[in-house]
Amino acid sequence: MNQNLTTDRQTFVTHLECSITGERYEADQLHGLSRAGRPLLVRYDLDAVRSSVSRDTIEARPTDLWRWRELLPVRHTSNIVSLGEIETPLVPLTKSGGPNVLVKDEGRLPTGSFKARGLVMAVAMAKELGVTKIAMPTNGNAGAALAAYATRCGIETIVFCPDDTPEINVREIAMQGARVWRVNGLIDDCGAIVGKGAAEGRWFDFSTLKEPYRIEGKKTMGLELAAQFGWKLPDAIFYPTGGGTGLIGMWKAFDELEKLGWIGSQRPKMFAVQASGCAPIVRAFEAGEEHAERWEDASTVAAGIRVPKAVGDFLILRAVRESGGQALAVGDPAILKAVDAAAKQDGLLLCPEGGATLAAYHQALNTGLVDEEDKVVLFNCATGLKYPMPEAPQALDRTRPIDFDAL
Ligand SMILES: *Cc1c(COP(=O)(O)O)cnc(C)c1O
Repeated sequence: MNQNLTTDRQTFVTHLECSITGERYEADQLHGLSRAGRPLLVRYDLDAVRSSVSRDTIEARPTDLWRWRELLPVRHTSNIVSLGEIETPLVPLTKSGGPNVLVKDEGRLPTGSFKARGLVMAVAMAKELGVTKIAMPTNGNAGAALAAYATRCGIETIVFCPDDTPEINVREIAMQGARVWRVNGLIDDCGAIVGKGAAEGRWFDFSTLKEPYRIEGKKTMGLELAAQFGWKLPDAIFYPTGGGTGLIGMWKAFDELEKLGWIGSQRPKMFAVQASGCAPIVRAFEAGEEHAERWEDASTVAAGIRVPKAVGDFLILRAVRESGGQALAVGDPAILKAVDAAAKQDGLLLCPEGGATLAAYHQALNTGLVDEEDKVVLFNCATGLKYPMPEAPQALDRTRPIDFDAL
């Protein structure tokens, strides 16, 4: 058994808080959105964390997600159903990126995407709070991670996805024990079905940011980066933004780390990367709005960021603005070109959303938002192996003479 999970322990969670009104909600109870219809944020007794654990203690532990347990919400480690949530590596992308470009390769996580971080946490909390049936809208990877973890601990799961969700995602969801339905609409149309069933008491709603604990799981990306950079942070982070859980989570992580005295006040510029065919956050950023309107007729090859409307829009926009970063849109051709360049030049297979961050990095470089000396982290959120690749049709007839010069 993983050493980081061997001791049952108390969490340092004090309460939850509405992200827009600050209204307080009790811990250890099942919560969805706040009464104001906005995400709830988990709050900790950070003074108690500081006196119970140090940076050095954390660094002495095995390097997986659970080394951060004092900053996570699970009360009893026996409720955690782990599939091996490793710390993901920072891979240099020297040729297609540049001398100071690192990819945080989240494709190495269970179920092949960083959705595992959020869902391992949310499912553990659902188990802890007695949930027996969960429903979720997904663009693919979240449903797969939910199916894996929920099945593993005996929670019934129903997943709704747009009917053009990548085939492999639909199949892995079904294979891992969930009931999956293709819906003739986008992810927010699927979300409406989940919401209706939840209102009727049929299941618990696991939509992005509609339960409080996925953010806490995604927060570990920020915690890991701090440790990997020697308790400093990179100069810029490029994050492919759909619901924005990861960006919001990392921003929260940095705040908690500073309050613990483990990092200083320096922050990376946060770049929220979207596809030109679905860029509600970029449009709101440029218009100086605090909330983003729904993006109509959303379309992009990067399914994971095809999110027309995000319930945490204002949290994404606030983090990006406070950081001095920007919201950037890149077109599908640039995304595909970036995926190709990383594979052909650096031998790293990115998912399309990861490709979007590389394309956005070059855009930011060209427009002077970052320069080549800046230490930059790009997020590759899922393994490139899940996505279609160009054909490689050459075949050799071994019974005929072989033209070795032509190979
Ligand atoms: C979910 C997902 C995203 C978007 O992540 P959010 O934190 O919801 O914004 C990006 N890329 C991939 C591959 C995803 O599965």
